[in-house]
Amino acid sequence: MKKTVSVLLAFALLLLSAVPAFAETPSIDLNPQHKSASFGAYKHVFIIGIDGAGSFFERADTPNYDRIFANGAINSHVRTEVPSDSGPNWASMLTGVSYYKHWIHNGNSGEEQRDSSTRYPTIFTVVRRAMPDAELASFVNWGNVNFGIIETDVGVTEHQNGNDDALTDDICAYFDAGNAPALFFVQIDGVDAAGHAHGSESEEYYNAIHEADGYIGRIYDALERNGLMDDGLFIVTADHGHTIAGGHGRFSKRESFTTIAAAGKTVVPGGKLDKITRDRDIAAIALFALGVDRPFAMSARLPGDLFEDACGEPRVHAKDPLDAVISAVMGIVTLLTPDR
Ligand SMILES: [Zn+2]
Repeated sequence: MKKTVSVLLAFALLLLSAVPAFAETPSIDLNPQHKSASFGAYKHVFIIGIDGAGSFFERADTPNYDRIFANGAINSHVRTEVPSDSGPNWASMLTGVSYYKHWIHNGNSGEEQRDSSTRYPTIFTVVRRAMPDAELASFVNWGNVNFGIIETDVGVTEHQNGNDDALTDDICAYFDAGNAPALFFVQIDGVDAAGHAHGSESEEYYNAIHEADGYIGRIYDALERNGLMDDGLFIVTADHGHTIAGGHGRFSKRESFTTIAAAGKTVVPGGKLDKITRDRDIAAIALFALGVDRPFAMSARLPGDLFEDACGEPRVHAKDPLDAVISAVMGIVTLLTPDR
């Protein structure tokens, strides 16, 4: 009898102690990103887009690129969107969805503006929702990015200059004036012009990449001298490459492979980003670095071998079956297409 009472008492005590334990347990955080120390480790993300440079940085004389990413992570076999054009790719990098979701191309990005009611917002809108007071900015040579890709109603500081050298001056002046944006996008245009005119085997093309490397160096140095790289993630990328004859839009390796290079305090030195990385994954990388949750619709994912403490995520093809099929078929077409 004594034994029964003590068992009952012990049971009652156990129940009582469990009640407050359950009551205090917060809802379970199922987002694996939150377990990584790199999630939200950055105050600033800088995305420097070199239009038309594709996978060719390493074949040019690029002393600044080399020094900036000496301890960074680089993948120069990143698949672009299908088609390998500017509008679709800058839009995918900024929205984290495929061309078959956002349908932004060179034509309509110069004609139609977007606002934050869009179904597939850019990371500018996503960051704005999470950080109402943050400075966000986009400095471009090709005006379509600011006109027809980035939303008009989320308070992004926008600037356009049709001369890359002068644009770089404007960027450096912006940082030297004390601006410290959470998200900053740049589009430099000269390499694309050289690619169209002379093709991707020409001296002119590699000279243009060398020139762009000078702009990359000047921008990076402006960030360093203003203390913005202490908590900054610096990304260099391109929207597509060029054929030997010059031009892009189709599926050869020269057109449809591009580069993501990243430098920052938690970036894996010598990291390669995994093989399934797409240029649209820049959207996921930027949000992850800033500690902002991704919109559910994004098929962008965090590549592996990029941040020291974060695993690569699978790509959820169910979010975009049309892109999954087209990308798989066109990936094979790329492998079968002779160098052109
Ligand atoms: Zn382009």
